[in-house]
Amino acid sequence: MQKVIISVQDLRKTYGEFEAVKGISFEVYEGEIFGLLGPNGAGKSTTLEIIETLRQKTSGKIVVDGLDLDKNPNDIKKIIGVQLQASGFYPGLNLVELINLFAGLYNQTVDPLEFLDKVNLRDKAKAKFKELSGGQKQRFSIATTLINQPKIIFLDEPTTGLDPQARRNLWDLILDIRKQGTTVIITTHYMDEAEVLCDRVAIIDSGNIIAINTPNQLIDDLVATGFERPTQVKKANLEDVFINLTGVNMREE
Ligand code: ADP
Repeated sequence: MQKVIISVQDLRKTYGEFEAVKGISFEVYEGEIFGLLGPNGAGKSTTLEIIETLRQKTSGKIVVDGLDLDKNPNDIKKIIGVQLQASGFYPGLNLVELINLFAGLYNQTVDPLEFLDKVNLRDKAKAKFKELSGGQKQRFSIATTLINQPKIIFLDEPTTGLDPQARRNLWDLILDIRKQGTTVIITTHYMDEAEVLCDRVAIIDSGNIIAINTPNQLIDDLVATGFERPTQVKKANLEDVFINLTGVNMREE
């Protein structure tokens, strides 16, 4: 049995009359990458932000690493890392200054250059945040979630708007973070991304969880119903062609 690190029971969230999250329950296991998948407006960010203690729930019970969200929100904050949107960074500070700022907030001592090495941004140490490319900004913002050495990190659509190389670099980074033992919760509406990254996924639609399992099992279950793709599946897709022609190396992302 794997250890449960997040337990969500019958979570509801209403905005006025509108019920955005309609009584969902799920568990996240320690050390896994857990995906919340769903179309826009499904309730993914609402769910994530409630667990992150950033938004009030309407009802339900949430326990994070044995800590009850209603009783110990501040203790939960200490063991989680939350990815800020790009607007959350001072655009005029350079990366070393930003890392020192975050480290100060979390009361941690970190070596900024060593830290930037981990996410392949050492050569940008003196660059201002606003001067980074989209992919570099995302890599940096994921790096900052690790400064307080959290047990769990939350990534809300980390690859939206990135080109294929930048996405794959980010996937490698996220897989690497899991390898170090950190639990990752990620939202995405890219199914290829979920298939590559996630150990298990919950599919949310209109505030309800309609399926939860490993990507493989969900696919097998669908195939078992007699489902077949309408066209013959090729062994590569256009993205493979693109990556094959232009390479997977870091570049101006
Ligand atoms: P997702 O992350 O899956 O795109 P969200 O959790 O952002 O979905 O939103 C779920 C639903 O709740 C959407 O219909 C959205 O418009 C609504 N919603 C989100 N935040 C608020 C808010 N602060 N006030 C009112 N409605 C909101």
